[in-house]
Amino acid sequence: MIPKRTFDAVIVGGGGAGLRAALQLAEADLKVAVISKVFPTRSHTVSAQGGITSALGNVSDDNWHWHMYDTVKGSDYLGDQDAIEYMCRNAPTAVYELEHMGLPFSRLPNGKIYQRPFGGQSQNYGGAQAIRTCAAADRTGHALLHTLYQRNIAARTQFFEEFFATDLIRDEAGSILGVVALEIETGQAWLFESRATLLATGGACRIFRHSTNAHINTGDGLGMVLRAGLPLEDMEFWQFHPTGIPEVGSLITEGVRGEGGYLLNKDGEKFMERYAPNAKDLASRDVVSRAIAQEILAGRGCGPHGDFVYLKIDHIGADKVKERLPGIRELSMQFAGVDPCVAPMPVTPTAHYMMGGIPTNMHGQVVAPVKYGPEEPVPGLYAVGECACVSVHGANRLGGNSLLDLVVFGRAAGLHMIDFLRENPIPANLPEQQVDKAMARLARWDKKTGTETVAGLRTDMQRIMQDHCGVYRREDLLKEGIAKLDQVEARLPDAALSDHSKMFNTVRLEALELENLIPIARATLVSALARTESRGAHTREDFPKRDDGQWLRHTLYTRENDQLDYKPVRLKPLTVETFQPKERTY
Ligand SMILES: Cc1cc2nc3c(=O)[nH]c(=O)nc-3n(C[C@H](O)[C@H](O)[C@H](O)COP(=O)(O)OP(=O)(O)OC[C@H]3O[C@@H](n4cnc5c(N)ncnc54)[C@H](O)[C@@H]3O)c2cc1C
Repeated sequence: MIPKRTFDAVIVGGGGAGLRAALQLAEADLKVAVISKVFPTRSHTVSAQGGITSALGNVSDDNWHWHMYDTVKGSDYLGDQDAIEYMCRNAPTAVYELEHMGLPFSRLPNGKIYQRPFGGQSQNYGGAQAIRTCAAADRTGHALLHTLYQRNIAARTQFFEEFFATDLIRDEAGSILGVVALEIETGQAWLFESRATLLATGGACRIFRHSTNAHINTGDGLGMVLRAGLPLEDMEFWQFHPTGIPEVGSLITEGVRGEGGYLLNKDGEKFMERYAPNAKDLASRDVVSRAIAQEILAGRGCGPHGDFVYLKIDHIGADKVKERLPGIRELSMQFAGVDPCVAPMPVTPTAHYMMGGIPTNMHGQVVAPVKYGPEEPVPGLYAVGECACVSVHGANRLGGNSLLDLVVFGRAAGLHMIDFLRENPIPANLPEQQVDKAMARLARWDKKTGTETVAGLRTDMQRIMQDHCGVYRREDLLKEGIAKLDQVEARLPDAALSDHSKMFNTVRLEALELENLIPIARATLVSALARTESRGAHTREDFPKRDDGQWLRHTLYTRENDQLDYKPVRLKPLTVETFQPKERTY
């Protein structure tokens, strides 16, 4: 048996979601470990730019119910309305809590938290633009993550940084009893035993060739869940952010359009006026991404290959750009060679966010209807943040709602875990054969020679996803994509590791990441093929209409035989009336 550490709770992931949950547990004097494959403050949350959405009403009249309406509509009615109510209702408390922890928000002249307009946000159920997204300049995620990290240090959370979690340990009854993780520096495998395990491993946009995500966003938690025989929810829904820097992928925040920026085609036309007459450039992200893709397809794209459009912001004045969007200016100058104070920035739709993920209830408990009966929690397993699907984002997430999701449900999961630990004081016996199984998978990647490279296979997978499962999808393209992905998967056992030592072997880790990415790509293609309608970010050329009769339901993908199950959308909120599905226009 490998060496073992025992904790009350183990959190896999040191981003905003993991750190918010850990804080709740550590402040309750529980022994909590956070495992992170990078130093926690390098998690992708650090790069969130635009802000965190909450109806504070500091700039425009506002209330949480309008925020709820916008989120339901933004989700194209696929979001679960009870979870959305919970999130929007708790948003102001969550933001004030962060403020009191010391998060350095930008300020209005009257000293209140600065708020900016973001896409899909309205007053009075679809009326005028709401100004709802709270920001710390264009570095909100950085401020949030550092605040939470410092709080966790003070609360004595134990950090295991540069530890790579590989598999969940599950007993016969289906309870989760901990995880196996590799110490990256030495290659040593450790068993982290715990009565409650929370996955907060973030997104997985690295299945695509062009992405705004960090290279570490490889969906490891999702891979672990699939290998444990549990399902993933709504995997066909990936958000393409309208404004990524072409080729490079770096994100240009929606906050640029919030501050008054607009998009132009090669004829200098403000084309969003044609696609979304009311909200224009601040329509929901799926709408803006499709509009840009249409302009490019119609030959109105910019540049020598006509493959991007321009985003103009210089008209608000250099001083304002420098004050409100300093990071964006830096990114644009570095990666696009353009100073936005004087010229428009080239932008194109880029894979950005995973709406689907590990199915959970509002307490962050992982629920697995397939094996455990309807909505039954998997004992001892929780998931929060981008890797989870609670589902508040449905078919399309609104900007600023992800940071909110992290802190609201991170806290909720922490609270539930405290109760769960109190009710389950004695650890169950660890099944040794399960640990052996996890170790056998690792052993397959020891001292490996072979004819393929991990990087080559990853690029092949990313190209397949980009070409066969992008902004627009079609049956023949998706089927071809699945066949091509089968071939990549079959080549994976032949991948060589450049260095055969286990110590600090990054290729070995990349191989383990690819073993997570490929099944996620597969789940995406299979779910996208099944959903014969267009909803939110999932656009089928062959089924252009939304079909509420058949598809007001979530998909659940299980790895064994690519099995698909379904569960209805929870349309009933906690206390208010249902927002009935209607046509979605901006
Ligand atoms: C460029 C960019 C800008 C964004 N801007 C905004 C914004 O303005 N507003 C907004 O609301 N949302 C924004 N988003 C989305 C939002 O930032 C993310 O959805 C959110 O931060 C994800 O947080 P998380 O805690 O779930 O995961 P992450 O912050 O991605 O953290 C994941 C953690 O898991 C760890 N991990 C992963 N795998 C393993 C493993 N195998 N073993 C051990 N540890 C592991 C990592 O080390 C990391 O600590 C943005 C996203 C991007 C990419």
